[in-house]
Amino acid sequence: METHINEVFSSIQGEGLLIGRRQIFVRFSGCNLSCNYCDTSKSRDPYYGNLISSDDLFNRINRLKTDDLHSLSFTGGEPLLHADFIQDFLKKHKFKSLLETNGSLPDEMKKLTNLIDYVSIDIKLPEHGAAKNWDDLFELELESIKLLRDKEINTYCKVVVMPQTELDMITYIASTITNEIKDTSNFAMVIQPVSPLNNWVDAGQKLLTLSEAAGKYIEVLTIPQIHKLLNIK
Ligand code: SF4
Repeated sequence: METHINEVFSSIQGEGLLIGRRQIFVRFSGCNLSCNYCDTSKSRDPYYGNLISSDDLFNRINRLKTDDLHSLSFTGGEPLLHADFIQDFLKKHKFKSLLETNGSLPDEMKKLTNLIDYVSIDIKLPEHGAAKNWDDLFELELESIKLLRDKEINTYCKVVVMPQTELDMITYIASTITNEIKDTSNFAMVIQPVSPLNNWVDAGQKLLTLSEAAGKYIEVLTIPQIHKLLNIK
């Protein structure tokens, strides 16, 4: 099996709950959404990069392995557009892995629930302009979260907040997730301020209030992208 992969590289995870972990990133091509803050715009092109086979990917990963490797990160673009390829790869090769997904493809997610160790699900906000109908997208994201919780997969959600993000929206998202999944133990929301941070006015105060709003309903962490601070990929 072959698929389009934008790049494969080793770096330090700069976002979410595995922050600081050494990972090998497999960045797949193509995305079904169109967020206005997207920092991997080239990988939204489904044909960007090379057609790579499962064996070729395995060889590339082995060449990049270091003693501090924690796991693979399947990212993009949207990696679940390549769920069959990832399923085939992980059935053949045992790796601890993180899936970084926009959460809009729960039916594709089902193909990987027995193979993936960690999942980071983005919750998009209306101001991201990711899809025509935000409510429908949020429903799909909730479905993905419930599916992963049912399978007891280590899952967290990530919300990229902007200077104009409203408290009410964060409150709505946090309370709705809590209502849907009931048991919120081992589940957290990561609030990630959109980069670059120097475009924000009074970021600290704004982030404190967003954290408080979410924290009424759900465990919350506020974490900026650290790979950009470290000047690494
Ligand atoms: S879901 Fe991710 S890759 Fe797709 S457009 Fe949004 S930020 Fe970019």
